[in-house]
Amino acid sequence: MKFIADGMLGKLTRWLRMLGQDVMYSTQLEDTELLEVAKKKRRVLLTRDSELYQRAIGKGIEAFYVEGRTEAEKLAELAERFGFLLTIDLTRSRCPRCNAKIRLTPKETLAGKVETNTFIYYDEFWKCSKCGRIYWQGSHWDGIRATLEEAKKIKGSQLNFI
Ligand SMILES: [Zn+2]
Repeated sequence: MKFIADGMLGKLTRWLRMLGQDVMYSTQLEDTELLEVAKKKRRVLLTRDSELYQRAIGKGIEAFYVEGRTEAEKLAELAERFGFLLTIDLTRSRCPRCNAKIRLTPKETLAGKVETNTFIYYDEFWKCSKCGRIYWQGSHWDGIRATLEEAKKIKGSQLNFI
C-alpha cells in the first residue's frame, strides 16, 4: 500500500513514514496534480478536504477521507482501514522528512555529526539513505510511544468517527 497525502497532512505523513508506510507528500502540488500522481503511481490519496476526496472518488482514484482530530485518532482510523500495525519497527521505518529508507549506522561513523552528549548517551543511530538525516531513540520517544498507545486503544475500542 502506497499513499500520497495532501498538503494539510504533513504531521500525519511523518507518523506514517515512521511506521514504515510509503507516503509521498508535497505542499507544492495543486489538487489536480495530486489526483494525477495518485492515479499514475497508484497511490491512495489521503485528504482532509472533502471536495478533493469527492473528486478523487469521481475519477475512480482510491482515496481516504481523514477525519480524526488528534494524530492518535487519525492513525487509528488509517491502521483500521489499511490493516497496518501501530508499532514502530525502525528496520522498516522511512525517513519522516523525505520518505527514503533509514538504516542502522555504525556509531563510530557519526562522531562529530551528532551532539557530544547524544553521542555518548545513545548507542543505536539510524541514518536516512537519501537525505542523510540521523535519528536515535531519544527522550522524545516517550511521547511517540504514548501517542501510539493511545491510537491502539482508540482502534481497539472500535470508535466510529463519523
Ligand atoms: Zn531522509
